[in-house]
Amino acid sequence: LQWSSSRVRQTFIDYFTRHSQIPHINIPSSSVIPPKDAGTYFVNSGMNQFKSIFLSHQDKVSKQCVVNYQKCIRVGGKHNDLSDVGHDTYHHTFFEMLGNWSFNNSYFKREACTMAYDLLTRIYGIEKNRLFFTYFNGENNLIQPDYETKQIWMDLGIDSNRILPFGMKENFWEMSEVGPCGPCTEIHYDHTSQGDPLQVNRDNPRVVELWNLVFMQYERRQDKSLIPLHNCHVDTGMGLERLVAVLNSFESNYDTDLFTPLFDTIHSYCHPSCSIPVYSQANKNQQYAYRLLADHVRMFTIAIGDGLIPEKKGIGGLLKKMIERATRIAYEYLHIDEENVAIISKLIPITTQILSQAYPDLNEKLNRTMEIIKYCEVNYMKKYKLAKPLLEKFIQDKILKSDYFISGDDIYRLYAGKINHVNVPLEMIEDYTRLFPVVKFDWSNFEELMREETRKSKIFSVYNKTIKTNENVSQHPTDKILDLIKQCSSLKQTID
Ligand code: ATP
Ligand code: MG
Ligand code: MG
Ligand code: MG
Repeated sequence: LQWSSSRVRQTFIDYFTRHSQIPHINIPSSSVIPPKDAGTYFVNSGMNQFKSIFLSHQDKVSKQCVVNYQKCIRVGGKHNDLSDVGHDTYHHTFFEMLGNWSFNNSYFKREACTMAYDLLTRIYGIEKNRLFFTYFNGENNLIQPDYETKQIWMDLGIDSNRILPFGMKENFWEMSEVGPCGPCTEIHYDHTSQGDPLQVNRDNPRVVELWNLVFMQYERRQDKSLIPLHNCHVDTGMGLERLVAVLNSFESNYDTDLFTPLFDTIHSYCHPSCSIPVYSQANKNQQYAYRLLADHVRMFTIAIGDGLIPEKKGIGGLLKKMIERATRIAYEYLHIDEENVAIISKLIPITTQILSQAYPDLNEKLNRTMEIIKYCEVNYMKKYKLAKPLLEKFIQDKILKSDYFISGDDIYRLYAGKINHVNVPLEMIEDYTRLFPVVKFDWSNFEELMREETRKSKIFSVYNKTIKTNENVSQHPTDKILDLIKQCSSLKQTID
């Protein structure tokens, strides 16, 4: 490989610390688990750890320029790529973002664009006529178009038909519903070499977005209004996996050294009697499974490495669901029986070997991560083998009766083990929504029921506390408890 992922990563850091005209300091990636009040799911971009600087809440690195590579996960909140992952070749649940920053007016648009262009064309050697540049064309009369950036690209000698205007969705960057934001300019790479500007920002896997340069000049408030920031900042982010693919002329990120060893390992665990081909010769569904597994195992390694545990709720709940789904996909598409094999857990060492070049702390976490994943896989597979026939029969019985409606209560009873004492994992029921498009699943009613269940369990926990301090209450039979608590107004306040 001419451009190994390690070399690409290091070249980026070296350029901004040593070779660009402006010296940057290299700050390590933060954990992917956000602080509790961060207002986002996982850390989803390089800028998250610097948010407070943008908002001028603190001045820790005032007037500094920073470079880094940041672990990012996009499976929830405003940036959620989960439904694309495995289907396309350039969105991952976990990816690394290469970024450079200017805080508090250290430099702004012209310097940022000039350095980005110099690095891509001179240092990485990308051909000019493979690149497109986008800029923000304004929002009604509310936000000004960014003609300054358009002019900068022209001054750098870029052909005007390669500089394209886009609106809010593409060229106005916001980390989440509230927080720092601003217009951005993006650099896209054309694998086709046909130079068709209509293909930019069209989900064409051959014309991919590479680098986003955000010019942070506003703060979005809760009431949706925008206020100017005290100082302007530059925040850029480029996907490492996409850049490595481009530099090696691969159209898929999965052909890079970040993924190919994972595919080899996955194949080695496919049972010979199933004759599953290697990735390049596999059919569409099998390739999807290869990609999903290779993608997810990286995310599991990083998230668990950073201290997340698969559990019932929150981002830990999301992690658990993803492990379970990956386990099932391995079984259904590649016929890897997790009960005996625990494939995902077995992929952790090779994943760690690849990623620990950049994140050496993963080595110490290897065994723990393997144990956690193995536990989930084995447990899930036991549940799955009971749940699958039950779920299929349940739906088929309905269809036989020409009933095409699965109510919120049906979903709840399946999920909560009210039918034959078998708990059907939610992720399985969700997938059946896709498998049986003629059947309607009432998810919103299910969610209402779940909220009601949470409310009830809160009531019971208040009750439990109460009986410890109030003997009279404990004398009542269980079915009187709810009424009793409802009558008790001070308790009701606690519950609501
Ligand atoms: P896209 O339009 O391709 O979904 P984006 O506009 O959502 O990308 P940004 O938020 O601008 O992405 O992030 C900066 C860069 O990070 C992108 O230009 C891209 O190179 C990379 N990137 C974003 N999302 C992903 C992902 N899910 N997997 C891999 N790389 C990504
Ligand atoms: Mg996106
Ligand atoms: Mg985009
Ligand atoms: Mg973008």
